[in-house]
Amino acid sequence: MKRKTIFGVFILLLLSFSLFAQNFNDALLKAVQFYDANRCGPLAGEDNIFSDWRGACHTKDGQDVGVDLTGGFHDAGDHVKFGLPQAYTAGVLGWALYEFKDQIAAAGATEKLLKTLKYFTDYFIKSKVGSRFYYQVGEGEADHTYWGPPEEQSSDRPTYAWADSSKAATDVLSQTSAALSLMYLNYREINSSYANQCLTLARDLFDMAKSNIGRGNGQSFYQSSSMYDDLSWAATWLYVIDNDASLISDVKTWLQKPTQNGDVPLNQNHWTMCWDDMGLAVIAKLGMLTGDSQYISVLEENLRYWLNDLATTPGGMKYLNNWGVLRYNAAESMIALLYYGHTGTKAYLDFAEKQLKYMLGANPANMSYLIGYGSNWAKHPHHRAANGYTYANGDNQKPAKHTITGALVGGPDQSDRYVDDVNQFQYTEVALDYNAGLVGALAGYLKYAGGVIETPTPVQVTPTPVENTPTPTPASEYTVGDVNNDGNRNIVDALLIAQLYVGLPVPTYVVPEEYGDLNMDGVVNIVDALLIAQCYVGLPTAYC
Ligand code: ZN
Ligand code: CA
Repeated sequence: MKRKTIFGVFILLLLSFSLFAQNFNDALLKAVQFYDANRCGPLAGEDNIFSDWRGACHTKDGQDVGVDLTGGFHDAGDHVKFGLPQAYTAGVLGWALYEFKDQIAAAGATEKLLKTLKYFTDYFIKSKVGSRFYYQVGEGEADHTYWGPPEEQSSDRPTYAWADSSKAATDVLSQTSAALSLMYLNYREINSSYANQCLTLARDLFDMAKSNIGRGNGQSFYQSSSMYDDLSWAATWLYVIDNDASLISDVKTWLQKPTQNGDVPLNQNHWTMCWDDMGLAVIAKLGMLTGDSQYISVLEENLRYWLNDLATTPGGMKYLNNWGVLRYNAAESMIALLYYGHTGTKAYLDFAEKQLKYMLGANPANMSYLIGYGSNWAKHPHHRAANGYTYANGDNQKPAKHTITGALVGGPDQSDRYVDDVNQFQYTEVALDYNAGLVGALAGYLKYAGGVIETPTPVQVTPTPVENTPTPTPASEYTVGDVNNDGNRNIVDALLIAQLYVGLPVPTYVVPEEYGDLNMDGVVNIVDALLIAQCYVGLPTAYC
């Protein structure tokens, strides 16, 4: 019984940390700022919030084919520039801004997001040279043997993949087209000339994608299993711009074509939006725009499956896949929130809220999976630039030298267990595509549920007295925080201070007034109890 009481108070103490920390505006701003960490090219360090550890890199990209392909973004914890995840990310970030402009502005993230989007589209623009569109620079296997800062990596790396009249890449070209159309929509009132340049290229790439049908030949890391979903995604945004009904009928035809896996997007989709599969995104956007019942039923079945049938961890996390699980929950949350805005069905809002809060710290590990957010986050992200070490002596297994604020890590496993190990990249890697859905989900949640989700409230602690505690053997002298002088500063000390704070009696050998003032602010109160609890579970504070 006593153990239970202690445990209950312990949980209350821990909960109070995460309640204080759930500021979704802050999370959104950080999730946007993350992209600075993965900038590539001669301008990578300019106007970069990580400028103390990020600068110019890979300044010879494209030289092997006589073209300037510098710029763009490193994919994840590595430095390859892959076409599909870059285009996916730029598209989804653009979509987030298009739908949730006011919330992104309220979080103070508009300027950074627009700069990030332009960094993507500047790169896409220079990647179209004559009739070619280049979409992979760097070779994955070789790149992955290097562990060190991108600034120090040899710039001698191959231009690996491109599309032209003889090389199809319907998937990459289409997703890039959609990202450029969205940039047109988001940028036309800021700089119409640049916006129009984006739209012209969006149309050009859409035509290329349509006239030579086939999946791209980038490396297997991002070999897609479908392309008509991507073609439909490009058509969706051109439809938004042009209102051309023929695009709608083309999409209907395309979504009935099976993928490499044999799935027909228009029949059923239990996956979610990701770099390989834009079917759900198309169905959601066009379903809401046109009211087409076929789309609506596929979307609602997808949400029904996610809410009710998909595996759920004991801590409440939806579990689709063991590699970067949280990216899927973020993407699905974005879709669910968009549809909540359309229908007002509260279950969709509740779903997104649960998943987002889980990511930000309301989980059994009491861990924020958004680095630099909250009080306890992953310290070993699989990210070469942030890590700052090399493979020598296993140094890269040390905690990262630099805090890659705003990066969403892959996430825990099906039992809510997170392995904070730089080599366990299925848990610890960060990536362009991981954060994209998260930005949309956080902005959507802010739109429908308001700013600071959990108003900071006084900590409610109602402990019962610790009974029958054996009188400890006196130590030679008391140490700060060890108020019952049993030689350990632990949760019992936190509990005893909490008891005193709410006016409950404590045993006479307890001397909180002398040794309980952990933060030395002159009063012994609940803050000291919280600090002791925080130290006890290994959360960082200045007072441990
Ligand atoms: Zn680079
Ligand atoms: Ca696809």
